[in-house]
Amino acid sequence: MDGYAIGIDIGATNMRVCSIDSNRRLLWSEKHYLDMSSPPDSFLAQIKKIIMKHKSLSPISVGIAVAGYVSMKSNKVLKMPNAGIGEFDPSVSIEEFLGVKPWIINDAVAAVIPEFLVENGMKEGNISDLVFITLSTGIGGGILLNGRIVAGKEGNAHEVGHIVVDYEGEMECACGGRGH
Ligand SMILES: [Zn+2]
Repeated sequence: MDGYAIGIDIGATNMRVCSIDSNRRLLWSEKHYLDMSSPPDSFLAQIKKIIMKHKSLSPISVGIAVAGYVSMKSNKVLKMPNAGIGEFDPSVSIEEFLGVKPWIINDAVAAVIPEFLVENGMKEGNISDLVFITLSTGIGGGILLNGRIVAGKEGNAHEVGHIVVDYEGEMECACGGRGH
């Protein structure tokens, strides 16, 4: 398969945009501070500018990873608690721009996939189950069982950072819950 793919990572502090070729080689990548006080439209415009700069306007696939809850069913972001952003849908805007419908996925779930490939030597390997924990602005997790992502109903089955560990916890988590 020829061509290239684009990866977009919208975190709670930074965003990253990159492109890889069909051999999974990195073609380019950029990391920028994300001003979360500005509306999603403005950082989507910034992402488009970066892609234009690298003349990568005809990808075969696009993935958008976000630090938050997603709806994989309706392909949108439900909430990014650590960034203070509510529901938004980057898929329409990106599809209009690049002509490819992007996949929207939680960032830690997206991260478990390359980890799985690396652990298996980038091809056939023996590892089929894997749990990946991210410690960043928030705590995230991704789970693979029998080589398949554990997504749950909408793609949020892995949210280990929002498990209640203290039923009498006083501190409120950015998601609105307590004891996380
Ligand atoms: Zn929480």
